[in-house]
Amino acid sequence: PKSHASRVALVTGAASGIGKAIASRLAAEGACVVIADLDLEKAQAAAAELGSTDVAIGVQANVTDEAQVQAAIEVTVLAFGGLDLVVNNAGLALSKPLLDTTAEDWDLQHDVMAKGSFLVSKAAARVLIDQQLGGDVIYISSKNSVFAGPNNIAYSATKADQAHQVRLLAVELGKHGVKVNGINPDGVVRGSGIFAAGWGANRANTYGIKEEELSMFYAQRTILKREVLPENVANAVYVLTGPELSHTTGLHIPVDAGVAAA
Ligand code: NAD
Repeated sequence: PKSHASRVALVTGAASGIGKAIASRLAAEGACVVIADLDLEKAQAAAAELGSTDVAIGVQANVTDEAQVQAAIEVTVLAFGGLDLVVNNAGLALSKPLLDTTAEDWDLQHDVMAKGSFLVSKAAARVLIDQQLGGDVIYISSKNSVFAGPNNIAYSATKADQAHQVRLLAVELGKHGVKVNGINPDGVVRGSGIFAAGWGANRANTYGIKEEELSMFYAQRTILKREVLPENVANAVYVLTGPELSHTTGLHIPVDAGVAAA
């Protein structure tokens, strides 16, 4: 596989949180990076933090919209001459118990994470297959794809959907030399827009603590007693897509300081 210095990466939802850290890590390794997010200004501002438009650009793309996804992939190829690595990171998290979860909540959650990542993977796969240079597709799934969390049936179900997309696409795209892997983070409180937008308040309420105590609470329940930061997830993306793991596909790596193992 190519080294990161000669790769072109597209990261969805990379104007904030984990996606932003992934884009930053890949750019630091010399990759050209496309930051795709809902808001063009935020995407461009995040790209500008990484350098000039020769190395990083921001594009507006709602991952639920096939035409916008297709346009983002086309802009990537036009700007940087190809595509090697795609990260399905865009997401939102509704935190509601079953009886409060509406059909609209279910659809929104699944539109963004299940359908959205399917559309991104599909548009990217066309380019990756055509190039015949291999490549990587990464899904930022969640510990909740496997384990139950409180009050999040719609969120967790769609994360499980993403996990199965990883397995299915590892088989289908593997024929073309493309690797597909997932990452299962947990408890990335600091820097996460999802936590700031209500998930954190809900979790704090569920656990009977103050919201500002949440990152410490999550750290304390891990095996390693460590807080998980966006950078830790970014490091896993870097390693999974690097030359040393050229023979690893269809895998999910936990980045949770050991919560899922306990
Ligand atoms: P975040 O809110 O900081 O980042 C999510 C980004 O996705 C935002 O920039 C948002 O604008 C963008 N986005 C939302 N809907 C979109 C759409 N339709 N099209 C394009 N972009 C869209 O949150 P985060 O915590 O960094 O979450 C990133 C990913 O990591 C999510 O998929 C989330 O489920 C996953 N994850 C997070 C945690 C955690 O503890 N924070 C744990 C497990 C998994």
